[in-house]
Amino acid sequence: MKDVHFDTSTVHAAGHSGVKSVSKVKPIYQTSAFTFSSLDDLEDYFRGKNDYLYTRMNNPNQDDFAKGVAELEQAPAGVVTSSGISAIMVGILAVVQAGDHILACEDLYGGTYTLLSEELKTFGIETTFVSFEDMDEVEKQIQPNTKLIYSESVTNPLLRVENLEGIVSLAKKHGITSMIDNTFATPFVLQPYTLGIDIVVHSATKYLNGHGDVTAGAVVGREDLIAKAQAKMGHLGCNLGPFDAWLASRGLKTLSVRMERHVSNAQELADQLQDTKGIKKVYYPEHVSEKGNGAIVTIELDENSDVHTFFKSLDWVKIVPTLAGVETTVSYPLGTSHRSLPAEVCEKLGINKNVIRISVGIEDKSDICKVFKYAAEQALVSNQNL
Ligand SMILES: *Cc1c(COP(=O)(O)O)cnc(C)c1O
Repeated sequence: MKDVHFDTSTVHAAGHSGVKSVSKVKPIYQTSAFTFSSLDDLEDYFRGKNDYLYTRMNNPNQDDFAKGVAELEQAPAGVVTSSGISAIMVGILAVVQAGDHILACEDLYGGTYTLLSEELKTFGIETTFVSFEDMDEVEKQIQPNTKLIYSESVTNPLLRVENLEGIVSLAKKHGITSMIDNTFATPFVLQPYTLGIDIVVHSATKYLNGHGDVTAGAVVGREDLIAKAQAKMGHLGCNLGPFDAWLASRGLKTLSVRMERHVSNAQELADQLQDTKGIKKVYYPEHVSEKGNGAIVTIELDENSDVHTFFKSLDWVKIVPTLAGVETTVSYPLGTSHRSLPAEVCEKLGINKNVIRISVGIEDKSDICKVFKYAAEQALVSNQNL
C-alpha cells in the first residue's frame, strides 16, 4: 500500500498476497467473511456466481468436509456443523416444525434423547420413543402429524443393528421422512442413503475425524432437505470453524485404513472375550455388512465381578466418555452417555452397572485382548477376596 501511514500499513501489510501454485492440501480459510471488489461482485454472490460471503453461512473448509462426507455416503449433498448434536438438530429442523411429531427408537444416544425429549419439545415438537425391534409395532405409533422417523444404524451401547429396510418401507408407505445416525457404523461399513434413507447424520467427532481432537457433525442426504439443513445451520449459528473443518477433512482421508484395523481388532476382541472368565455377555453385532461389524465391543461383567477393579486394572487403556479415537478407550454408559436416559429404559434395555463399552483402537490386536482379559480376571478375583 502506498500513501498511508505506518499504523495503516500494519493492518494491511500482510495477508493479501495471492498464490498461483495450487497447494497439495486445501489451505485453511481462517476468516469470518469474504471480500468483494464491487457491489456487482457482491450481487454476484446472491446470484450464485461467487462462492462465499460469511463463514457462519459457508466457508471453503466446511464445504470441503461436507462434500467428502456426502461422497463417502454416496449422497448428493451435505452440510457440516459444530457438533454431532447440532447436526442432528438442523437435520431434524429441516423436516419438522411446531405441531409435528417424531417417531424415534428408544435406545438412542443420550444426548439425542435429551435434544428430542427436552429441547425440541419446548419448540412444540413431540417425540414418541418406541422399541424398533418390531416394525409392525412402530407402525402403530404413527400419528397423522408424524413427519420424521429417527433411529441409529447401530445403536449405542448395546449395538443393536437397525432394520433400515424396514424403516425405509414404513417411511415410504406413510410419506414420512427417514433419518439415521450412522456414527457407529460409518460409511465404511454401511451407507444408509443407498438403502433409501433420506437423511444420514454423523457425530464427526467420532470416526469421521477419528483422532479425538475435533467436535463436529455432518448431515448428508436428499438435496432439498440438505439445502434446508444448510439454511438452518446458518440461521441458528452452529457452523463448524474452518480449522476444525480442515482437521476433520484431514482425518477423513484415513477413514478406510483406520476402519479396516478398528473393525478387525474389534472382531478379534469380541471373539476372545466370549469365553473369558468374569464376562457374562459380549455385545457385538453378528452381521452389519460384508465390510465388518464396527469397532465398538460392549461387555457385561458377571454379577460377582467388581466393576471398579475392572476399570482400575486396564493398564494403558483410559476411561474416556467418547469413542472412535485411534487409541483403545473404555466408557461407562450408565455414568456418561446414557445418564440422561430414564432409569427404567436403561434397565429394560440392559444398560446396567456392569456394562462397559469398549472403543477398540488401532493398536496391536494381541495387546488389546491381553489388557481386557487381565482386567476381567482381576475384577473377578478381587471380588472373591472380599
Ligand atoms: C457422540 C454421539 C453423538 C453426539 O455427537 P457430538 O459430536 O458429541 O455432539 C450423536 N450420536 C452418536 C451415536 C454419538 O456417538
